[in-house]
Amino acid sequence: MLSWDEFETPESAKKPPEQEKQVAPVTTTEVKEEKTEEAYKEQSKINVSLETGPVSSRLERAKKAVEKFDLALGEAALAGSGSRVNVDEKAMINCSADVNQLVPFKYDWAWQKYLDGCANHWMPQEVNMTGDIALWKSEEGLSEDERKIVMRSLGFFSTADSLVANNLVLSVYKHLTNPECRQYLLRQSFEEAIHTHAYQYVIQSLGMDEAELFNMYREVPSVARKASWALEFTKELDDPHFQTGTVEQDKKLLRNLIGFYCVLEGMFFYCGFTQILSMGRRNKMNGTAEQFQYILRDESMHLNFGIDVINQIKLENPQLWDEEMQDQAAGMILQGMQLEIEYARDTMPRGVLGMNASMMEEYLNYIANRRLVQIGLPEEFPNAENPFPWMSEIMDLRKEKNFFETRVIEYQTGGALTWD
Ligand code: FE
Repeated sequence: MLSWDEFETPESAKKPPEQEKQVAPVTTTEVKEEKTEEAYKEQSKINVSLETGPVSSRLERAKKAVEKFDLALGEAALAGSGSRVNVDEKAMINCSADVNQLVPFKYDWAWQKYLDGCANHWMPQEVNMTGDIALWKSEEGLSEDERKIVMRSLGFFSTADSLVANNLVLSVYKHLTNPECRQYLLRQSFEEAIHTHAYQYVIQSLGMDEAELFNMYREVPSVARKASWALEFTKELDDPHFQTGTVEQDKKLLRNLIGFYCVLEGMFFYCGFTQILSMGRRNKMNGTAEQFQYILRDESMHLNFGIDVINQIKLENPQLWDEEMQDQAAGMILQGMQLEIEYARDTMPRGVLGMNASMMEEYLNYIANRRLVQIGLPEEFPNAENPFPWMSEIMDLRKEKNFFETRVIEYQTGGALTWD
């Protein structure tokens, strides 16, 4: 996990991804045969006998079915089975090695992130919300502008983490053909559930209108535009027959990963996080700010995992990272930045909490540079600086770098945040 300081270090931001762990490219140019509807039906037939009959014969029928069950046919249903896995056969995508054999590890960074995610476990109910409830209900507690920020942040985030979780489980998981990465995806998915739980817990504690908050991603334009932008990249993978294996299809998966990891989790969360943490820094809404701090710690790891996955896929499949794809990837990051700037303007029509929309714009230029460099693209805003260095003080956490940037890793050993 990165501390804010490490996360935003300009020196490291200028380093291109390390290319040490070279892996023989897996060619995906061969066009896989399209599976017909019939082939899918045939493939999904089970070999277990499910013959029905009277209740009195149920046990006898079960015994016969087990006797008749053909091991060879059952084994054939296991994807990629047939032999013990050799580490060199493992690959991020389009891999036919058995995904049920976690070891031997090929991507130690993925397994380490899984362990680190587990070490950071927390639950929303552990945070005391009493002060926030009193402040939220008091007439003079917060200004109108501050209340708007709390509402918009909870409105955006309450559904954003569900969008991420659903994309992971329903669109991405199937196509990342590596068990240690899948192990992290399962951990990440649970963390997304905890985050949604945290927002729900805050919304309920403060007695807010739940329907209003959970519908902002459909009803409030600056929130809805971010959500629907990300959903476009889920849509690309939504066809139930979608499969990777051609350059065009693999690029769709790569765009999804860039859209969700670099933009949704890596850009769309930043204005809201900065605003709420700034509130906590001013001793307001401390419980909510603490929830957001735990969430940001998890999110930093999600982002770093995603960047490592994207860079590993690029290394193993250089044919995907052509000029067109690089241009699209950079364009996506800049589009995400623009949407986040719109959001900043909507949530901060005036200066509030020691910041304003144009400071946030500069910050987002700075973040966009980081994201571009992290996936091996040149910076777009050479003079952008971080106008919120105080974020590094708030985020004084144990740190962890993503694999491709450095190999220096310090791990969190317990679940608690450090409050210096
Ligand atoms: Fe996340």
